[in-house]
Amino acid sequence: MNLCDRATIARICKKYGFQASKGLGQNFLIDPAVPRRIAETVPEGYGALEIGPGLGCLTVELARRAAKVAAVELDRALLPVLAETVPQQNVTVVHGDFMKLSVPELLAEHLPGLPVAVAANLPYYITTPIVMKLLESPVEQVTVMVQKEVAERLCAPPGGDESGAITLAVAWRAKAEYLFEVPAASFWPAPKVDSAVVKLTLREPPVAVQDEALMFRLVKAGFAQRRKTLTNALKSAGYDPATAAFLPAGIRAERLTLAQWAALADAYCAAQA
Ligand code: SAM
Repeated sequence: MNLCDRATIARICKKYGFQASKGLGQNFLIDPAVPRRIAETVPEGYGALEIGPGLGCLTVELARRAAKVAAVELDRALLPVLAETVPQQNVTVVHGDFMKLSVPELLAEHLPGLPVAVAANLPYYITTPIVMKLLESPVEQVTVMVQKEVAERLCAPPGGDESGAITLAVAWRAKAEYLFEVPAASFWPAPKVDSAVVKLTLREPPVAVQDEALMFRLVKAGFAQRRKTLTNALKSAGYDPATAAFLPAGIRAERLTLAQWAALADAYCAAQA
């Protein structure tokens, strides 16, 4: 069954009385090359974790390549659909909200003993929290399709114009690669914006810091008011601006490198001691 074919999708939707929900970010891929290319990033023999299998076009490609696949789908209405479209024995569809699941428990139950790569066409309304959660999970690699502007932010170097709080989180935990762009016309229904696929290879942080959680609280405070100078943003969040006095005067959050954020966190840590 070609799950990227419009007529096939229409037939499945009719058979199961299924209607795509905008609120759940249901934009299904109709270009078969895209799920194939995403699945090809999963190393052979790995366990694959998919978030939001939808009608199953990426899931079947993953089943071909990975040792096992666990696919988490929130929409109950898609479960009978997936039972027909993804009959492969090495796939388990898990009904649930990915944000509420424990990834270590999910992997222990469905992909035990396997190195794990994530592959997903993410629901756009919840991209950033999902990526943040994956960066803290015991997975080796994350290949995700997201809105193009989000992809640019995920892959931007810290300190540059595109930098945001998520940029720092990615740079801290992963090597990011911008793989390829996918036009809005490759989806049904077509979203308003283009998309891009990024690959994050998780690794140890490249810089040492005494208190990682404190550093990310400072990052959050700094980017919460990105029009302000960093000193003023920190001040409004209740941090003593004098501790940040060693930073260049007037610097804004997006201009700091990872090493500078780490130095800032270490300075607050020392000030608290
Ligand atoms: N993988 C399919 C494809 O590429 O055609 C569908 C991708 S669609 C952009 C996103 C999918 O994520 C939908 O099936 C939607 O129901 C599901 N979804 C939305 N929120 C979710 C959540 N919190 N947890 C798990 N799945 C979710």
